[in-house]
Order: sequence, then C-alpha cells, then structure tokens
Amino acid sequence: MRLLDTLQHKLDALSARHQRRRCPVLDTPQGPRVRIDGRDYLAFASNDYLGLANHPALIAAAGDAAVRWGVGGGASHLVAGHFGAHAELEQQLAAWLQLPAALLFSSGYQANLAVMTALLGRGDAVFADRLNHASLNDACLLSRADFKRFAHHDLAQLARLLAASTAPTKLIAVDAVYSMDGDCAPLAALLALAEQFDAWLYVDDAHGFGVLGDGRGSLAEAGLRSDRLIYMATLGKAAGVAGAAVAGHATLIDWLINCARPFIFTTSTSPLLAAVLSTSLTLIAGEPQRRQALQARIAQLKHGLAGLRWPLLASETPIQPLQVGSNADTLALSAALRERGIWVPAIRPPTVPAGSARLRIALSAAHQEADVAELVTALRELAHTLPAA
Ligand SMILES: *Cc1c(COP(=O)(O)O)cnc(C)c1O
Repeated sequence: MRLLDTLQHKLDALSARHQRRRCPVLDTPQGPRVRIDGRDYLAFASNDYLGLANHPALIAAAGDAAVRWGVGGGASHLVAGHFGAHAELEQQLAAWLQLPAALLFSSGYQANLAVMTALLGRGDAVFADRLNHASLNDACLLSRADFKRFAHHDLAQLARLLAASTAPTKLIAVDAVYSMDGDCAPLAALLALAEQFDAWLYVDDAHGFGVLGDGRGSLAEAGLRSDRLIYMATLGKAAGVAGAAVAGHATLIDWLINCARPFIFTTSTSPLLAAVLSTSLTLIAGEPQRRQALQARIAQLKHGLAGLRWPLLASETPIQPLQVGSNADTLALSAALRERGIWVPAIRPPTVPAGSARLRIALSAAHQEADVAELVTALRELAHTLPAA
C-alpha cells in the first residue's frame, strides 16, 4: 500500500541517519538495578529521583487503594469521575506547595497543553525559553498565540520581546529545571519581568518538585510568591507514580476546570494512582533523608569526574549531563558503558543542539555510594581507552 510505503521510506531514512529508535524493554521494577532487554544493568536513566517508584509503602498503598476505590476512574472529572482520592490529593498538594489551589492531570504533557490552550488564543503572546521541554513547546504552538522564543536564560532578549508586544494576554513559559541540562531558570528575575509587563509566569517544575526547596519545588527554593505564578509539577518523576498538578490562584484553577479542554474531555486519572500519590507526598514531606542521600550522590559524582576529558555541565540537580560533543563519540561511550553493564542514555540532536551530544546521567536517592563509584571508575577508564574524535 502506498501510504505504508511512504512511512517505510521515511523510517529507512531515519535508520540511515542513525536516528531510528525503539523502546528498550524493562523486565524489573524501576530502580538502580534493572533488567533491560534481558540483561542486568546498573542504570542512571530514570527520573525517579527519590527512589519512590518501587517503594514498599507505595506498593502497599496501591493494594489498599485498589480495594477502596477500584481501578478505573470511569468518567471525566466533571461528569462522575472525580473521587475522594482526587479531592484529597489536590488539597494535600496545594497545602504542600503553599499555593491556594491545585488541579490534577494524568500527565505533565496534558497539564502543559491544558494551561496554554485555556489561557491563550489568537492574538495573545507566549514567551518561551529556547530549551523548554517539547511538551511545553507543543502546548504553546497549539494555543495559537504568537510564539516568541528567547535564547536560553536571555533576560534582555525576553525584556525586548515583552516591551514590543501589544498582546492582551502575555505569558512567560519556562522549565524551572532544564531536562537535558540540569540548570535552573532565573525565576526571581523572570517574575520581575512578568510583573513589569503584566504577564503570567508559567513554571514547569517537572524536575524540581520533590527535589528542590525541601521537596516543595523550585518556587519554594527561590522563595517566590505571586498571583501571576502558575506552577506545574509532574508526579511521574520524583513523586514516583504518574500524573501532574497545576497549582496557583483559586480563580485560575476554577478557569481551568471550566475551560481547559485537555482536562474536560478525558477520563479522570485512576483514583488508585491518586491515592498512591497521597502516600508519595507523605514520604516526600516526611523523609528529607532521601534528598540528603541524593545530594551526597550528586557531590560524589561531581568530585569523581572532575578533570575528566568530558566535562559535566554546570548543574546542582540530579540531572548531570556529561558533554561529549559528537554523536558518534557519545554513542560509542554509551555503548562501551553498556558492555560493562552500566546504562546511561546518549542524548543527541534534535533533542539537544547540534554538536552538544551528551550522556544524561540521572541520579537517584536509591543509588548507593558504590553504584556511583562504579560509574566514575568506568568513565575514568574509558576516558583513557576510547579513541579521541
Ligand atoms: C517529563 C516532562 C514533562 C512531561 O511530563 P509527563 O508527566 O512525563 O507527561 C513536562 N515538562 C518537562 C520539563 C518534563 O521533563
């Protein structure tokens, strides 16, 4: 069939460019030690920063929640799919974040799409950092607002773009922690610009929630409060489960409930997962030692890799990218680690800018000191044995 042939040609072209991808299959729960495609690995590849994805308390909560709530939501939130488990989690999240109200979504991708399309339309303007996550870029495009991108952290360019805009609604959208770089947005300066130009400030904290600000996330870390702040946390990363929450002023949340189509026209998140997330939040709040262990692993890795042929990017978060440069070298290094039983994903363009291919080392509180030591030793040896480009 011609339609399928066209797809096959395009897939072949991806293969020829070494860009064809498939999903490696895990045969164990998420954690530092995983079986992938039938082989055992020490892995630095998940966003399960606090080691909660396979935590016994969450597994027990899932069993209890299945008995209490069943498994499926069965309807959208506004129809008959909003359970006590959802309501309780939303209150718990708002209290933890010290924000007036919170709304639950099934994923961060959906939450980004919901907010951008509910707040923005034709004639409005959205101002986005160039390194924002793909889901945020898609959301901005689908809002049909004027999509203005500024160079990474370039506040002067952002100020010029804002000053030149006559859009009735302006929104600045940033990742709080950049997913492929691990660096943090200058949130205080961004909020000052939002105030100066009467714009919303949308903060996608997929990688900060649970980790920064004693677990309350990047706004707490920066000590910021404002009714023009819109906060988004994903719950499939440090929280170890799935889903996302948007938090902010009660009027904003009420508007999303009434007008955000990705919230309205979808089945509710499983109430089982909402109940498990309540337990996750209790652990995030009650076990700061997880964040301390994570900080110790971050410090250990940075110390261990200092002066290596490939530099770590400047990052204080569990995302510690090792900048290699060329695609071929990055793939070779990732493959050499895999041969030693260590799984670290190679990140290449178009996910990152051309010439900046890297290994994305992701650390977790579940990693032991010996795990990080094993990675450091392997990378130090490979720095001597792998040929230079
Ligand atoms: C992972 C991620 C998302 C998407 O969240 P999901 O819950 O995985 O859909 C959004 N923004 C950023 C910055 C992310 O890293």
